[in-house]
This record gives sequence, C-alpha cells and structure tokens, in this order.
Amino acid sequence: MNEKEKYKLQEKLRYDKAQTELDEKGLHPNTKFYAIKKLEIKYDEKILCPFCFNYDEFQLFNKEGRLYKCPICKNCITLKTANDIRFMTSEQFAKWVFDYRLSGFWDKIINKDFKEWNKRLYDVGFGFGINFWDNYKILKGTAYCDGD
Ligand SMILES: [Zn+2]
Repeated sequence: MNEKEKYKLQEKLRYDKAQTELDEKGLHPNTKFYAIKKLEIKYDEKILCPFCFNYDEFQLFNKEGRLYKCPICKNCITLKTANDIRFMTSEQFAKWVFDYRLSGFWDKIINKDFKEWNKRLYDVGFGFGINFWDNYKILKGTAYCDGD
C-alpha cells in the first residue's frame, strides 16, 4: 500500500467511525448529529459567483489556498459559500450580502458597477418573488450600522 492509499484508507476509517457508534448493543449508525456529512461539490456542477453572477462549472474556479477564485471577476469564495448560494432564496441571498457588506462586498462586484450587478441579479432570478431588495431594505432598516 502506498502513501496515497494509506491516507485514503485512514480518511475512510475516520469517516466511517463518525458515521457509527458503539454501545452495549454493538455498532450502529450514528443518529446523534448530522455534521458528519462532508461538504462536496462535483467538478462539473455549476456554481454561481455572488460578485459577478458568473454561472460556471466548479472546476473553472481555481483553488487558491482554501478559497476558490472566480474566472471572470477574480474574487474568491469559500467552498461553503459556493455550495450555499446554489440553494439560497432571494431572502437568504439578501441576508448573505447584507452580512458581507462591511467586509467590502460592494467593492468586489463586477467592475464595481452597481447597475450591471443589479441587472444580473434579476437575470439569475434573485430579483423576483419576495425579492432581494425588499429583504435587503428590511435588514438595513433594523441594523444599527447604516452601511450601503
Ligand atoms: Zn465572479
């Protein structure tokens, strides 16, 4: 067994151990928590960049350290963000942008062009229904810090 196989086996054992628990009745599936589910995005799955709304295969986002770089706007996102945005509603996305705004969200958007970003927001469907801006304004209204 080479080093790589050994590593893989160790990882599998660790994973299996987290999935099961041992008590007086023996070994059975762990029902206590769900955190053991591994966050994973397949290479050919498409993800959405929140800064430019580029919708591309995950493999086109280059890995840089723990982050993934958008091939279009060159901003980096975490694996968790890449995963979460796929399932967000307009309301949840508004909350995400709102929480990010003090870390420079609006400085990172495509060409720093708000109009373009806002147009794309509608193109990808976050502008419709209970829309992004309704929620963003609600959040802004109740926040102690009146940012952008
Ligand atoms: Zn981007």
